[in-house]
Amino acid sequence: MMNQWEVVIGIETHAQLATVSKIFSGAATAFGAQPNTQACAVDLALPGVLPVLNRKAVECAIRFGLAIGAEVAKRSVFARKNYFYPDLPKGYQISQMDLPIVVGGNITLQIGHGDKAYEKVVRLTRAHLEEDAGKSIHGYFAEKYVEDDYVEGPSSDHTGIDLNRAGTPLLEIVSEPDMRSSDEAVAYAKTLHALVRWIGICDGNMQEGSFRCDANVSVRPKGQAEFGTRREIKNLNSFRFLKEAIDYEVQWQINEIDEGRKIQQATVLFDPDSGETRMMRSKEDAHDYRYFPDPDLLPLAISADWIARVKNGLPELPQQMRGRFINDLGLSAYDATTLTASQEMAQYFESTVALAGAVNAKLCANWVMVDLAARLNKEGKELGESPVSAAHLAGLVQRIADNTISNNIAKKVFDALWHGEGATADEVIERQGLKQITDSGAIATLVDEVLATNAASVAEFRAGKEKAFNSLVGQVMKAAKGKANPQQVNDLLRQKLAG
Ligand code: ADP
Ligand code: MG
Repeated sequence: MMNQWEVVIGIETHAQLATVSKIFSGAATAFGAQPNTQACAVDLALPGVLPVLNRKAVECAIRFGLAIGAEVAKRSVFARKNYFYPDLPKGYQISQMDLPIVVGGNITLQIGHGDKAYEKVVRLTRAHLEEDAGKSIHGYFAEKYVEDDYVEGPSSDHTGIDLNRAGTPLLEIVSEPDMRSSDEAVAYAKTLHALVRWIGICDGNMQEGSFRCDANVSVRPKGQAEFGTRREIKNLNSFRFLKEAIDYEVQWQINEIDEGRKIQQATVLFDPDSGETRMMRSKEDAHDYRYFPDPDLLPLAISADWIARVKNGLPELPQQMRGRFINDLGLSAYDATTLTASQEMAQYFESTVALAGAVNAKLCANWVMVDLAARLNKEGKELGESPVSAAHLAGLVQRIADNTISNNIAKKVFDALWHGEGATADEVIERQGLKQITDSGAIATLVDEVLATNAASVAEFRAGKEKAFNSLVGQVMKAAKGKANPQQVNDLLRQKLAG
């Protein structure tokens, strides 16, 4: 039944910009301060104050526009979006409506891997600057602040207002409705998340709300040209919730239609505990907000010169670096995508390759993506905290490449390096006597011994049991304490058994 339907998803993302102060005031944006200690007269909307635009926030938006190949508007306009809510002291939010700072652009996604991997370009509609609202702190949480003596007043049946977040700069990034599955939506969110961190405009901390997504979801019968009516799932702050919320919502909409009901446009919330979405409010239209240009702020004019300077300061972008890894280093699309998931990872990989040599790029990629990543994950460490440096790993890869050690022994060396037992791979190999035995005379002696003491396996092999051969290889490797060159062991055994 599911496959008669096509899913359509467009995503609106709020990325908190990594500025020190707010978008229209000098108050600090640092997370986690005591309530209402980082809200100045402008954020509190005291009479007579005026907003002053933060140049750094504008620069972040320009960086983003350039990174996605969009048009950075020479002239954009701030507008008042009017609504009444306790955490919005001015009674309006300063945002951009008709003339946003960034128009168009696109993001390329890599979805899945192996045979099912495909690439997809998602178009962006726009990105605009706006200020965040404050936060309501309800019941239990408000009470906690009373106990901690932070504020007086609220208790479990009260709500406190924290205006520290009011005026924090946001970039709202709006996609076209181009995604066709929850997997594509997650790939989009992850790619965008990686990009804003890569270009240094957002710390990407999803728990702290620095990067949150609203997913607009609709379904239509396959082949139908018009879109179905959408519902918007608000404030998804993890990739897992994004996927779960969309999957639930799609099924819900299909059931509604199957049972003869029409989808009403609405804003819904996802409850991670029940895994369900539920209606928050019926959708408001732009006119409900009575948008008009903010008379306190001049239109924002951006010179070509400023744009050029920002462009010069941009790092190589993940998409370009990915192409280089594929074309110059011969990596697969999947490997190149994984290694460009963050700038730290890409840099670590590049440093490893620089030392180990481009011919060993694939080996370097495997060690970074598989062994190192698994170890970091297991120990709950970030790449920056890895006891095994890029130089360590390059030394290790070189010894695998020149047959000094096998891949299996290399795991031992890696482990030793992780625990600081040696300054380099060579030192570990030397000290622990891990050098691979490639002397064919020495290997031949071991092979002869094993053949002499394993008559039964030899007989089985001669009777046609290939399994017996593997057991003989195992015996030789054991006698060599894992250090014999496996290819040589294989070859010699075959020779001797054939003779
Ligand atoms: P609004 O003005 O109400 O915010 P927009 O037209 O700006 O609505 O769209 C908001 C988001 O919803 C965009 O990301 C857009 O791609 C997406 N969207 C619009 N129509 C649909 C639809 N029928 N199904 C899914 N997503 C949609
Ligand atoms: Mg919109």
